[in-house]
This record gives sequence, C-alpha cells and structure tokens, in this order.
Amino acid sequence: MFYPKLETTKPRLLPMSVLTVAAPLVKDGFSVKIIDQRAGDDWKSVLARELKDKPLFVGFSSKTGKQIMNALEASHLVKETSDVPTVWGGVHASLLPAETLKNKFVDFVIVGEGESPVLKLAQALREKKSYEAIDGLGYKKGNDVFYNPQKTFVNLDEAPEIPYNLINIENYIENYSFATGKPGRNIAFYTSRGCPHRCGFCYNKEFNKSKWRGESAERLVERMKKLVKDYGITAFEIEDDEFFVDMNRAKKVCEFLIKEKLNIEIFTTCRVNYVQQRMDDDLLKLCFEAGFKSLAFGVESGSPRVQKMMAKDITNEQVFDTVRRLKKAGIGSKYYFIAGAPTETIKELYETADLIRAMKKTDPDIIIPPWRIFTPYPGTELYASSRELGFKPPKSLEEWSDYDFRKIKMPWISKKARSVIQNGIYSISFLSLQNKGGKSFYFRLSRIYGKTVDFRWKMRWFYFPEKHFIFLIKKIKHEIYG
Ligand code: SF4
Repeated sequence: MFYPKLETTKPRLLPMSVLTVAAPLVKDGFSVKIIDQRAGDDWKSVLARELKDKPLFVGFSSKTGKQIMNALEASHLVKETSDVPTVWGGVHASLLPAETLKNKFVDFVIVGEGESPVLKLAQALREKKSYEAIDGLGYKKGNDVFYNPQKTFVNLDEAPEIPYNLINIENYIENYSFATGKPGRNIAFYTSRGCPHRCGFCYNKEFNKSKWRGESAERLVERMKKLVKDYGITAFEIEDDEFFVDMNRAKKVCEFLIKEKLNIEIFTTCRVNYVQQRMDDDLLKLCFEAGFKSLAFGVESGSPRVQKMMAKDITNEQVFDTVRRLKKAGIGSKYYFIAGAPTETIKELYETADLIRAMKKTDPDIIIPPWRIFTPYPGTELYASSRELGFKPPKSLEEWSDYDFRKIKMPWISKKARSVIQNGIYSISFLSLQNKGGKSFYFRLSRIYGKTVDFRWKMRWFYFPEKHFIFLIKKIKHEIYG
C-alpha cells in the first residue's frame, strides 16, 4: 500500500485510508507493507525492493491535487519496472472512476470504502479467479472500463483492529495537544464516517450518500484507552466528518471517558446548529470534563444568501450563540470560512469580514484560520453550478494533479474580489493577535498589524498589497507560532 505525499511534507495525520484497508487483509493472513511517501525514507528504493517480491498489487490513495501527482509518479514506476497491477482508491478515484481507469498507469479502482473490495480483489488475484462481480471495484477489459458501485457500508463495530504495527507510529504523534496547544502526545483518531448534512461543496453527499455511521461509544473508548496505554497518547484529534451526529453516543463517550479517568484532551468537529438546538449547558459541561477542549465549526460565509446557496442549514444567530456558550463552557472554538463560491459578490465577502470581526469582538480567543478558497470538487452540488458559470474542469488525472485554485481563474471571481479573498487569507491570523500579550518585538509588531487589519476591514480597505509584505508576514508568523 502506498500513501502518496499531499501538499505538505511533514507527516502528521495517520495514513488512515491505507491502514483501514490493510486491516482486513492482515486479518485474512495477507502480508501487507505500507510505504508512506511523507515519512522521509527513500520511497523509490523501498518500492523497487517490494516489487521484487511480486506483490499481488500496489494500492494508492488518491485525493484531488498533489496526491494524484505523486501517486501517478509512483504508479508509473510500478508499471515501468514490473507487471504488478496498480489499484487506486480514495475520494478522487471513487468520484471519477471511469476517468481514473482511463489512465495507463491505473489497472483497478475502488469505488467507495476500500475494506471489502480490496480484500476480495486480493483473494481473487491470489486464487486466479474472476474479480468482475466484486462490488465497489472498477477494472479494464481491453480498451473498455467497467465499475460496480459500492452496495453496503462497513459496520465500524465489526471492522478489524487498525494494524498500527505496519507504520512507525512515532512519525504521526505531535508533541503538543491540538486541542489546547499545550505539550502532549497528540494523534489523529476516527470514530465515524459520513455526514447526513448537504453542504454543496462537500464530497460527503456523493461519497457517503449522506449516511453517517458511528462506532459504538464502548468500542471507541476502548480503542482510545489502548492508544493511551500502548503509546502514551495524551491528546486526540478526532478527524471525523461530523462527530456529534448521534448526541446519545456523544454523551456516552463523555461519560465513559470521565469514568475511565483517561485525562486526555480532544479536538473535533461540530455544527453551530447542534450547539444551539441539541447541546444544553449541562452537555457542554460534560464535554469539557471528558476532555473536549476545542471544537471546530464550518461557517463558510457571513452572508445568509451564500450560506443558503451552500446548503449550510445554519444561521448567524447560531454562530454567535455558539461563540458565547462555548466561551462560557471553557471550550475553545475554531471557525472555518470559504471564499469565492459561485455567484458570491464583493458585498457578500464584506459580510463575511464583518461577521468575523463581530465574532472576534464577542470572544477574542476564538480561532479563525485563513479563509479556504472555494474549490469545485467533482461530485458536489456546487461543481455542477460552477460548470454552468463557465468553470472548465480538468479532464484527466494529469490535469487533476495540478488542480490548484491559485492557478485556476474562476470566471465569477473578479480582480477586486480576488484582492479581498487574498487579504482574508494573508492577514486574518493577525486579527487574533491584536488583543494578545507577548513582549517580543515580533509580537508587538503583529499586534499593531492586527489593529490595522481590523481597521482596514472595517473601512473596506482590502486592496492593501499584502503580497509585497508576505516575507514580513511569514517572518512574524514564524516568530510567533514557530
Ligand atoms: S457538515 Fe461538514 S461533513 Fe457534513 S456535509 Fe457539511 S461540510 Fe460536509
């Protein structure tokens, strides 16, 4: 199994897509090797060495963008130096199976969750049997490509144990808690798959058919206990699409964690409408006691029209309610925004800036990362509307591998809107610093800078040429955040 590099080189998140697929293979007696391109080894030599043993196949994870570029390079090497088949899985291959299969370096694709089709494919190849009827598998026959849809989802309570022994887990443990920033041993963790919501930019509706599946509270807390015991983990970054969908399960998780006295810190995802409608102050208190020290929310836009167009199903009133009540409960919070959605106007971008400033005034300690740029991913609702507005999608794996908003001109984003968006990306973190302590020269400089950002946003002066100051901004960020 090969996990190609993403945009950054530092390995932090576990290569979960390959670990979960490896689990049933290991259970069935197959020998599995995981090569994580991010881990810094000489991956080409390692891959070449493994190919000499003639594995049944090499599996690749594929996420739109750089990961495809790296998967293509490794697949090329496999096809050039051996007759071992390549199997591509992951979100991109699942959403565009036919296009992925058309690439000469790809022999099979996995559509949807990989556990069952990969195991069945391995068994078929080992026993030299037909694989054509395997659900969730795509294959080639002559010049034609075929794929069978995924029919069932994995029952997470029956999934085999994650084979952490196949990787060097220390490569994936951060030395600080993602929830609080304090020193610790932090690891990524997963407790559910999918999401029942319908956000128009999200892969979930297509990939997970809007179906949320959660592991039971009992089992997931047992797994946490084991990680604490075996690897000294003190902090978990739960990377679920949406952890709190089943509130009874969430309550049980909290109760078990308190009973077990695990003394861990947790960061995970939530929704502002959940906080307002389904989480009373007692539940927030319980979450805090159990270790949930920080929650992340997608707000995406300050404009009700854009929120509606994105099918967020939230309101700004819920946003403020969440900011206030999480502060009261002592739980840190982080809010994500997306800029540049189809038809979004400059006025609506200003509404986002206004909302952020107002949220910061309500609680200066909230974290607002740089705005993410809207990207029309295949299979999402907004992908279709983007195409109607003139967006021309890439047509091959090679083109998708270079899919980067900074290089693509979305027809609906004017030059002026681009300046506002870039300002939101480069200077937003300084808004957080305007009220913070810290005596160093760079801290003082960033406080002054933060106040100018607040003032300029208020006055709608978004056309400050930030890019000429990127060096200085990076230097300040480096000095403060490391
Ligand atoms: S709530 Fe999050 S995971 Fe669910 S559809 Fe919206 S963006 Fe996707």
